[in-house]
Amino acid sequence: MPELPDVEIFKRYLDATSLHQRIHDVDVRNKYILKDITAPALARGLKGRLFESSRRHGKHLFVRADGKIWLRLHFGMTGSLDYFKDDKQASRHARVIFVFANHHRLAFDDQRQFGQIGLLKDVDEFLKKRSLGPDALDLDLGEFKQILAKRRGAVKSILLNQQLIAGIGNIYADEILFRTRMHPATEISRLDDKALAKLFRATRYILDKAIAAKADVEQMPKSWLLPHRGKGGKCPRCGEKLRSAKIGGRTAWFCARCQKKI
Ligand SMILES: [Zn+2]
Repeated sequence: MPELPDVEIFKRYLDATSLHQRIHDVDVRNKYILKDITAPALARGLKGRLFESSRRHGKHLFVRADGKIWLRLHFGMTGSLDYFKDDKQASRHARVIFVFANHHRLAFDDQRQFGQIGLLKDVDEFLKKRSLGPDALDLDLGEFKQILAKRRGAVKSILLNQQLIAGIGNIYADEILFRTRMHPATEISRLDDKALAKLFRATRYILDKAIAAKADVEQMPKSWLLPHRGKGGKCPRCGEKLRSAKIGGRTAWFCARCQKKI
């Protein structure tokens, strides 16, 4: 499921391939992922315009077209972007294809169709309406502590709460907690100042590193949890078999020996 690092990589891909290109047509192959807009309205809103710039917030990607309209992309469970020249190259999971004047295409692929595409006028207003917290990479230590102060609940659930901090999902929350050696069910209010600072540093470190690795598990350090995460996986630190548990409705993977509850 695309999280902050994945969406940042999509942003860079879109910036490198599709900015400053005139949109000749919008080919909606499956309107299921359109949110609060019809296929003709999406096409009408974008046809003849240029993608000018993009902005990521948490797991959302916003692409500004001239005329002050923003395309909103949310990648759901399996969304991704694909830029190509020939229509025959389109994946069978291509749901919406932006056709540029130079005949190249940008497809929003989404096998499971939990993604979302919409148009909006004001990104900040959208973020406010959704009550999304600040982006995980926009925070400094003071803000991070302030957001987590006086919270109750498992530290993992807190990290996953997009209304507190936007961008961290199941995989990277586990990775951050593995790095800090905190059990995912640790009660957040039991973390002292030092532990919160450690959590903040690990959050930045893991997200930055994952982006540098192009959000590709093959390129991530073998000392991370991610390459070992799953049934039969062993802790890269101590060799203990990794365990899973449902925490905050999601499956957490962790090492019960390295990650103790405080
Ligand atoms: Zn371990």
